[in-house]
Amino acid sequence: MTTFSVHESPTALHDSYGRHLHYLRVSLTDACNLRCIYCMPEDIVFRPPATLLQDDEILTLVRVAASLGVDKIRLTGGEPTVRRGVVDLVRNIKAIPGIKTVAMTTNGIKLAELARPLAEAGLSAVNISVDSLDPEKFRRITRRGNLNDVWRGIEAVAAAGLTPIKLNCVVTRGFNDEDVVDLARLTLDHPWEVRFIELMPFGGTAGFQQEQIVPSAETRRRIEAALGPLTPVPGHNGHDPARPYRLAGARGIVGFISSVTEPFCEGCTRLRLTADGKLRLCLLRDDEVDLLAPLRAGADFETMRQIFAEAAYRKPWGHRLEQNEIARSREMSQIGG
Ligand code: SAM
Repeated sequence: MTTFSVHESPTALHDSYGRHLHYLRVSLTDACNLRCIYCMPEDIVFRPPATLLQDDEILTLVRVAASLGVDKIRLTGGEPTVRRGVVDLVRNIKAIPGIKTVAMTTNGIKLAELARPLAEAGLSAVNISVDSLDPEKFRRITRRGNLNDVWRGIEAVAAAGLTPIKLNCVVTRGFNDEDVVDLARLTLDHPWEVRFIELMPFGGTAGFQQEQIVPSAETRRRIEAALGPLTPVPGHNGHDPARPYRLAGARGIVGFISSVTEPFCEGCTRLRLTADGKLRLCLLRDDEVDLLAPLRAGADFETMRQIFAEAAYRKPWGHRLEQNEIARSREMSQIGG
């Protein structure tokens, strides 16, 4: 039983370990226009829209979070760009007092049409997921995607000034472990950050995923064997999960997100709001607190602040993959990464 009271800490969220939580990832939908092999089963059934947070509910919960010191929002999914009204949502979230940045993680498929309106609505940055530069492999991993759409999306993002551009690649053994070289090579000519993410085991697909994990050290060796040494970039912000490196003469950065082999829980400042209104306290643990039910039951703003702050206080230290504890209640696509 926690003795935490929101009145003790009215404007800054902390957990019981003293971590300052000021970053909320908001999943706008569990639906996606791709079916990436490591993210969701092929026959996934998406939730009925009425069970998901409505626009006004998202705005209320972000207002609650902002009143407690959250200043950074990242919109994710599913695929955030498939949510109807996403541009207005960005504009309205950005207008909430206290919110300094609104960013998005997306597969980029719809960015050719949406990059400019999103930028005009106040979006500050996008991370685009792209796991291979080979159109066939890209289709195999995403089970349906067209790589050209992503390229057009990246061009649109650059034209709209949504920079710096970050590209996310989940490295999956047998699918794209060799493609990391071509992706890292992009940083020679482009001022982009290409980030290699270790596959994380989740939900129903965990068995498959565990066998497919490629440690960052292996990815790094493969890139260095082909492109030369990667030198650490000084001044790494401990709250950024990606450890930054640079190839000789490169304009951009190669980052490694090693959630499995080198966890960074100590620097974690994140909370996650699932599309069905649960506050997820750690990506890789099943601990969640329902915010939608009290909201729909008529809880007032102060009560919601108290529920939110108490939940945040109970954020677990970190994942327990080494103890073989795998979060099974949801797929990654239902949390948002
Ligand atoms: N649809 C958007 C996208 O593709 O970026 C946003 C949602 S997706 C769940 C967010 C990020 O999680 C993506 O970069 C994706 O590659 C990554 N991801 C999904 N499943 C993962 C897993 N099992 N392990 C590691 N990263 C994963």
